[in-house]
Amino acid sequence: MKNILLLLAVFAVTLTSLNAQNAHCGFDEHLEKMLTEDPSGFQVIHDRQALAESIKHQRLSGEVERAGGPRIIPTVFHVIHQGGNENISKEQIEDQMRILNEDFRRLNADASNLRPEFVDVAADANVEFRLAKLDPQGNCTDGIVRVWSPLTFNASDNNGVKGLSYWNSSKYFNVWVVATIDNEGEPGTILGYAQFPGFGGASTDGVVVRANYIGDIGTGANNGSKGRTLTHEAGHWLGLFHTFQGGCNGGFFGESIDDTPPQAEATPSNCPQNSNTCSNDNPDLPDMVENYMDYSNGACQNTFTEGQKDAFDAVLGATRSQLISNSNLNATGVLLAETPCAPVAQFYLEKTIVCAGTPVQFTDDSYNGTPSTYDWQFPGATPSQSGDANPTVTYNAPGVYSVTLNV
Ligand code: ZN
Repeated sequence: MKNILLLLAVFAVTLTSLNAQNAHCGFDEHLEKMLTEDPSGFQVIHDRQALAESIKHQRLSGEVERAGGPRIIPTVFHVIHQGGNENISKEQIEDQMRILNEDFRRLNADASNLRPEFVDVAADANVEFRLAKLDPQGNCTDGIVRVWSPLTFNASDNNGVKGLSYWNSSKYFNVWVVATIDNEGEPGTILGYAQFPGFGGASTDGVVVRANYIGDIGTGANNGSKGRTLTHEAGHWLGLFHTFQGGCNGGFFGESIDDTPPQAEATPSNCPQNSNTCSNDNPDLPDMVENYMDYSNGACQNTFTEGQKDAFDAVLGATRSQLISNSNLNATGVLLAETPCAPVAQFYLEKTIVCAGTPVQFTDDSYNGTPSTYDWQFPGATPSQSGDANPTVTYNAPGVYSVTLNV
């Protein structure tokens, strides 16, 4: 009970600093909610921190070599959209995958910007994310699902957005892409949030990210994140707290990773290289604003540490071990060669109720492959069929009509 009270006190402090932020990650609020609903999470976190600590000791004593070859994580993007620019392109998602993998393998071009005092602890996390090539039914997929729904606005676990499209989270890393995220009436903008490993329910496991913070091209360009919102959220999903969790003293459910210097609070969204909010570390190092788990600008971030990799290893060796197993890599097709999939036919329209004689615009929303032909059937309309991608037709008599699209 004492631990629980302490934790709530920590959250109260953290939330106060978060509310001052304009744009931020919703992880702390989400974790607080999960722990309130399922207190077994306290023990899960405690046990995992103990495991990461033991992995760290084995690493430092040279007992255990780091696992060879990247741990491959099959990934699916669920783009929830209402036909606006939140319906981001496949190219933007592929740009996000490039950034995510460069960051987790320390292949990012700006890795050399890390200040010298931190170079010894910088890590190749040895994790690689790959878009799935087989869906849960074993069908060919490009790893991207598109669903038309107004739930893309003010998305949250509560509004049911994750239930619109979900793949077994013990086999896939689920990324839901939405227009906006619910901030429960608080000021500021939530850019993304993640579910911590080990508790909180399988069907909500994954991360939610705003569409205009995916990748560094298209709608994701020029927002300061450089595509690192998902790097940060994937860090949470693999067991990391913020570097400022617990403030200078850490303590129960403090960040607990000792090669990231203690940090009193989140770095504001810039890159203050002279910031040193805690002086209780020895040697007294500045705040590691380069760390992906701070709130500094994406252009400022470039590093996970060896200690953070210990935390990843604790998750990938236990809670999320099935994801990276050989049997799962085969089941999700991520070892297969690149082959185009057949498209899945889908469309949407702005209005489903119109006056007789009003033109109705249909928009193709087929995904998973590029259609070479369209075969629209509009019984009762003029024209009654079309080979266009986005046809407009008119219904002159009142009634209820069905529409068929084959691609
Ligand atoms: Zn966060």
